Amino acid sequence: MTQYTPMIQQYLAIKQEYPDTFLFFRLGDFYELFFEDAVKASRELEITLTGREGGGEERIPMCGVPHHSADTYIAELLKKGYKVAVCEQVEDPKAAKGVVRREVTRVITPGTMMEGQWLTDKENNYIVSIGASGGRASIAACDMSTGEMYVTTPRADAVWEEALRYQPKELVLCGEEIAEGVLHLPFMKLAPDQIDSGLADSQYGEQAAGLGESQKLAISALLQYIGTTQKRGLSHLRQLEVYETAQFLQLDAFSRRNLELTETIRDKSKKGSLLWLLDRTETAMGGRQLRRWIERPLLDRAEIERRLDAVHHLYEDLLLASDIRAALHEVYDIERLTGRIAYGNANARDLVQLRVSLEHIPELKVRLADSGLPVLSELADGMDACDDLVSLLRQALVEDPPLSVREGGLIRPGYDAYLDKLQLASREGKDWIAQLEQAEREATGIRSLKVGFNKVFGYYIEISRANLSHVPEGRYERKQTLANAERFITPELKEREALILEAEEKMVELEYQLFVQVRSELAQHVARLQSLAEKVAAVDVLQSFATVSYERGYVRPQIVTSGEFVVREGRHPVVEAVLSKEKYVANDVALDQEQRQVLLITGPNMAGKSTYMRQIALMAIMAQIGCFVPAKEASLSLVDQIFTRIGAADDLVGGHSTFMVEMLETKQALVKATSRSLILLDEIGRGTSTYDGMALAQAVIEHIHDRIGAKTLFSTHYHELTQLAESLPRVVNVNARCEERDGKLLFLHKIAEGRADKSYGIHVAELAEMPRSVISRARQILHELEAKQVAAAPEQMTFDMLFAAAAEEKPEPAIDPQTAEVLDQLRSIDINHLTPLQAMLLLSEWKQTLTGT
Ligand code: ADP
Repeated sequence: MTQYTPMIQQYLAIKQEYPDTFLFFRLGDFYELFFEDAVKASRELEITLTGREGGGEERIPMCGVPHHSADTYIAELLKKGYKVAVCEQVEDPKAAKGVVRREVTRVITPGTMMEGQWLTDKENNYIVSIGASGGRASIAACDMSTGEMYVTTPRADAVWEEALRYQPKELVLCGEEIAEGVLHLPFMKLAPDQIDSGLADSQYGEQAAGLGESQKLAISALLQYIGTTQKRGLSHLRQLEVYETAQFLQLDAFSRRNLELTETIRDKSKKGSLLWLLDRTETAMGGRQLRRWIERPLLDRAEIERRLDAVHHLYEDLLLASDIRAALHEVYDIERLTGRIAYGNANARDLVQLRVSLEHIPELKVRLADSGLPVLSELADGMDACDDLVSLLRQALVEDPPLSVREGGLIRPGYDAYLDKLQLASREGKDWIAQLEQAEREATGIRSLKVGFNKVFGYYIEISRANLSHVPEGRYERKQTLANAERFITPELKEREALILEAEEKMVELEYQLFVQVRSELAQHVARLQSLAEKVAAVDVLQSFATVSYERGYVRPQIVTSGEFVVREGRHPVVEAVLSKEKYVANDVALDQEQRQVLLITGPNMAGKSTYMRQIALMAIMAQIGCFVPAKEASLSLVDQIFTRIGAADDLVGGHSTFMVEMLETKQALVKATSRSLILLDEIGRGTSTYDGMALAQAVIEHIHDRIGAKTLFSTHYHELTQLAESLPRVVNVNARCEERDGKLLFLHKIAEGRADKSYGIHVAELAEMPRSVISRARQILHELEAKQVAAAPEQMTFDMLFAAAAEEKPEPAIDPQTAEVLDQLRSIDINHLTPLQAMLLLSEWKQTLTGT
């Protein structure tokens, strides 16, 4: 067996306890990594891999980072989803006998970081747990940096959906049969018997009383995990919010993505999303709150109207809105500052930021109260400006303290009598030294005599070589010789120096203690600060809505209960913003439960069908988060769920069959939707053969029409489906209009009543100057197909019929066998697996078949 050195043995013993982390092992001014960790970290961080003798036969792989810049490296590893255990020297190396004692003081994980430089201001940083017990699974979500904790028990089939909605950085899984296979996130699995299920109760007291078993398990597992990684108190996790997913408008992950609520589909950036458009918040808290509101539109009409009232008021009183913005602009991230205070890692600058923020609250309150609007003045009334904390901070801290809390310069004179005394002593000493220069110049007659200070020798008297002869014998003690000067000291100078240094040393220590006292005092008021932060955030989002609504000409939606969804001159908020308002063509929408439940939208590609559909969903969401909507007028019934199936091939990242995904998503809508839901289906059935697809599309429409009653927009290429409007009373045809102008097809982006002229495909081919023979042949085929369809009476086509038809003898083909063969081949080839050369060969083969040449 290898006999490692004592230090490496210590390393190995510690590493054993933290196998799934990078162990940052403090060695003097460095954090070192060893063995496998070193090999992997040198690769991930692009730092040099070296080696070290450790008592074994081979050198031990090693790499290290300086302790003062460790943050950057840790951040890099966290970003990649790794965990880092920080192992410090916990005794003074000078005092240590043998190897210095070391302990892991903290495990930093992607879901539990607190430090500003690792977090994004306007995003929460959630760690989510799933606790399963007694056949139910609950979710707890916590943002350590803000102190928020949420818990809910979703429907069994929506657990993952809800967990992932938080975009967690990390997961804790606890309990029966939780499948974690699909995840690319860091996760920790804990067995229920490892969990102290009393943690939820002890942390949240009465609030925890009504929780279910799986909810307690989820919370306890999370608290336990956080506790073991952070090794500190969790006193700032105060607020527990219990909710039910059915309290909010429900959107599955696909719809969120599809509607580009918080990020775009293409590059996953915020820019181009609804969040981006609506974000005119001034504070980081407001920015995070806005994101949460967008992710959870409301169903409670009274609450929606309250938000709309506030937005309305600010929309009309621009001066008030701008005053509020100005006040908010000076407010820092109270939530995260509070988190750091409670956690004991806030520095003096953080506390000054808190003070500055709190100083602007009275102004904000006055503005809100003066508005005379109940919603706003209630918010103002609820805001506790924490005057007591402000005066504590004013008295205790200087205006512009240094970053470090260990080097003094933090505490204001007058705050502590003893500190003042030390300061006086130090100042007097320094004054004496300042006078010394003048006195010695006079005594010796050397005008260039200087009194200076350096870290090694302390205070000294410096005399240039040329003047040395003028120094009276025995006046000074020689201390240091330089090239052209000598440095001297006197016993009295050293005495004074000792006094100054002693005072300063005491001051630094005392200042630190006083600072920590202030910080601990503030930590007693975490709940007050958190509740203030929440209200400030709400005001910020409301003013953001008002600002955007005003600038972009949105209107207040009328929330109605009639089941109608009627919009005059509606616009897609983001497309409009990108295109400019003049270019965007506004469109009306009229949906209701009696006559216009399903709109069948026809029109060629690129005509604006899916933009229209998305615009309607976004309108519903905007109204239900309490924002005005992009329209001239809107009467909207509240929507309980939104389902979308939009844009097939363009956004799928391989793997699944497109058609299968399409069917799975459509199924979600069919299974879960209610008469209050909104369903958007784009080109359903396109991924399979024509009759197959058309049959499915029709069956889906019939089901929604007859059984669900949800408001539905259904865009389709199958013109045959437009006949459904005749047989189903609540189905209406609309179309995205196009015109031909100067030989070009012009997309008007206007949605009109009625079905589209169906010959656009061939028309486009004609505009593209395809060979005439192809165009006329296509027209001929189209006529033949249409004739066949009339015979087949598609409005009565059902699955039964299709099966029956399939069982029948194949009818004589209406087209010649050669064409049929080419068409068959065309349908069956997989274009993605053809080389250009193969394609050319196929083409020439087909041409041969068709023309016989
Ligand atoms: P379709 O779904 O019919 O294929 P899209 O909805 O994707 O068409 O629209 C195609 C493009 O037309 C969009 O990218 C957008 O730039 C533009 N567009 C859509 N609707 C409008 C509109 N109402 N006004 C102006 N441009 C629009």
